[in-house]
Amino acid sequence: MQNIKRDFTPVKKGAHFTQKTFPCKNCGASLVFCADVSALKCEYCGTINNLYPPKLPIYEYDLNNALHMIEKRPKFDLKAPKQIKCPVCAATFSLSPHIRSTRCPYCDAPIVTNLDIFMPLSPQSLLPFKINQKKAKEIFSKWVGSLWFAPSQLSKFTQSDSQFEGIYLPYWTYDSQTNTLFRGYRGDTYYERVNRRVFVNGQEEIVEDMEAHIEWTPVQGEVQRYFDDILIGATKTIPRKIADALQPWDLENLVNYDEKYLSGFESETYSVALDDGFDYAKSYMEYEIREAVRARIGGDHQKIDSIQIYYDKNTFKYILLPLWTAHFRYKNKEYRFAINARSGAIRGDRPYSKIKIFFAILTALILGSIFFYLSQDDGYVIKNILQQIQSFNIHVLSAPF
Ligand SMILES: [Zn+2]
Ligand SMILES: [Zn+2]
Repeated sequence: MQNIKRDFTPVKKGAHFTQKTFPCKNCGASLVFCADVSALKCEYCGTINNLYPPKLPIYEYDLNNALHMIEKRPKFDLKAPKQIKCPVCAATFSLSPHIRSTRCPYCDAPIVTNLDIFMPLSPQSLLPFKINQKKAKEIFSKWVGSLWFAPSQLSKFTQSDSQFEGIYLPYWTYDSQTNTLFRGYRGDTYYERVNRRVFVNGQEEIVEDMEAHIEWTPVQGEVQRYFDDILIGATKTIPRKIADALQPWDLENLVNYDEKYLSGFESETYSVALDDGFDYAKSYMEYEIREAVRARIGGDHQKIDSIQIYYDKNTFKYILLPLWTAHFRYKNKEYRFAINARSGAIRGDRPYSKIKIFFAILTALILGSIFFYLSQDDGYVIKNILQQIQSFNIHVLSAPF
């Protein structure tokens, strides 16, 4: 049974934007979260400072109630520049919208802000980093090594540290009890004997054949399906096709939100609204429901004329998930990739090296032509090779890379 909660902490009136670091109990330096020990670790003296997050149940929240509450809350202008004063070196710098935690660009101190108190919703749980930066780079190098026709610059990129960024991205998870009414047709294939005229050796003959027909029967019915934890990326930093493709996540290991987990990492508040996220979730659910309706209709073919889906008992969670991300430019195009910092799954865009592809085709052609020459021993062979190379040249040069 899920724990469903209806109440939310009110936005504090007159709150100020603040930032902090977590000092080491031994030397006072700033602590960062260390994936290897799942605790805060001092970057200077190495002391482990254990984390004691609250041990509360991970609640599911009532969606309709939350949407109603968000509408009534005062709006906060996230786009307004937020000035940060580094608690360590006192330098000031501004923070992009939606960024909750970061590192000081001057002294690298890990800074966590209180941005969430201005948002209608704050995260309730998260999965801590499990894969460290070193391991993430190994995963990336292995991935690059496995890519065919990747440009050589890509492997050089894996050797530089600075571009790998650990980030907690916001996600919504939705649950829904759906009830669907449908009308349609079930199609059953049957065969009828027919006579056909055929020509055999120039003689017309009549042969018996089987002809397929479909018999359509009107159907209507109801399908019930429960959806649990449909995960929707609530960020616009990483394309949805990458953010949503890093599943599965071990959501059974979610821990209560504690800002100390963020120390040393970037983290974002949501930039896809709760209701917009639910619309994405609905499109995932509708796809599965349509499959379920087809299975219920049965037969060899199905037609769905009308479908009415009721989404009931809708609940959600607002969670943060850990990723290693990087982006690189190659020939004026930006490529992004991300690694699930729990499972090590990697997804991303990739460039193709035009030169590698060209030489691979050329090699294949030359080998093919040699084989052809050996097997044919014909005077036209050389002309043939030249023609093939020429046509592939044109093809490669006009390819839209
Ligand atoms: Zn220390
Ligand atoms: Zn600083």
